[in-house]
Amino acid sequence: MKRRNFIKRASLTGLGLAVAPSIISCETETEKDKKAIATVTPVFPIVVATWNFKNATKAAWEVLEKGGASIDAIEAGCRVEEADLKNTTVGNGGSPDRDGNVTLDACIMNKDGGYGAVVCMENIAHPISVARKVMEETPHVLLAGKGAEQFAVEQGFKRENLLTEASKKAWLKWKEKSEYKPIINIENHDTIGMLAIDKNGDISGGCTTSGMAYKMAGRVGDSAIIGSGLFIDNSVGGATATGMGEEVLKTVGSFLIVELMRQGRTPQEACEEGVRRIVESNPNYTNFQVGYVALNKQGEYGCYCVHGGFGISKYQEGKQTYIKSNSYIKKA
Ligand code: ASP
Repeated sequence: MKRRNFIKRASLTGLGLAVAPSIISCETETEKDKKAIATVTPVFPIVVATWNFKNATKAAWEVLEKGGASIDAIEAGCRVEEADLKNTTVGNGGSPDRDGNVTLDACIMNKDGGYGAVVCMENIAHPISVARKVMEETPHVLLAGKGAEQFAVEQGFKRENLLTEASKKAWLKWKEKSEYKPIINIENHDTIGMLAIDKNGDISGGCTTSGMAYKMAGRVGDSAIIGSGLFIDNSVGGATATGMGEEVLKTVGSFLIVELMRQGRTPQEACEEGVRRIVESNPNYTNFQVGYVALNKQGEYGCYCVHGGFGISKYQEGKQTYIKSNSYIKKA
């Protein structure tokens, strides 16, 4: 096997075989390398998502189980949360900004490195589907605000009021003091980031949110920004984030995690390092939550967060599981 191909396959194993290229001098695999590569049995299809989104991962699993493409599973799964009026951090029913406007961010990435996103879009309930249209139907990758809304309407999406009575009531209550101190696991909770591998072994991902409750008008977080809220590389795996978007943006968290997996870290190790990069340069870290989930090409997953209380939902081999994440700040 040529040296170049060996490096590629080694990094694909996710077993820490991605030795620095400079120390690989042989042209062929050793018997030990061959054995290690052969023992990796990919377990897919699989879907994982931030938080305990049972209905969303179930919808995605139903697509995957029938042999559907991971991109279709992602869209179907994310749409479930966008339609859930009780989820105040995604889609319809999302908490508004401090002026009372619900503004949505979403992005999607496919197996070919395609990316589409909308940010600060109002009045359209399914931003994940609009993001997919941006990816598939335009020469661009990201549309914002009025332009995104106009594009969505042109694509056949209908305008609707996304501010529910319950969200409006909560916002009016918040306005009495107007203090912007996002509450950990509450005001930055329930953004759905989802990663899926289909029967062909191809990975896609999506991330959709209404962002931080009572944010400033025009604020855009990490969720729809490539490399921050989501990153997919079909030769390595994917990662996605939830929590305080500003912190994820500053460390380009999801890209970092995928690159760490490329270098041989497991998804778990990569998520832990992603969180460490945030907290160890930020004395303020006790005041915010960030949670990551990552999936490599073998269907191995990992998750990690700053504060306890985060977890991921997974559907694999016909079974749904909730996995509680370990956290940087250990509970006393
Ligand atoms: N990451 C999202 C944002 O900053 C919020 C969240 O995950 O709830 O917009």
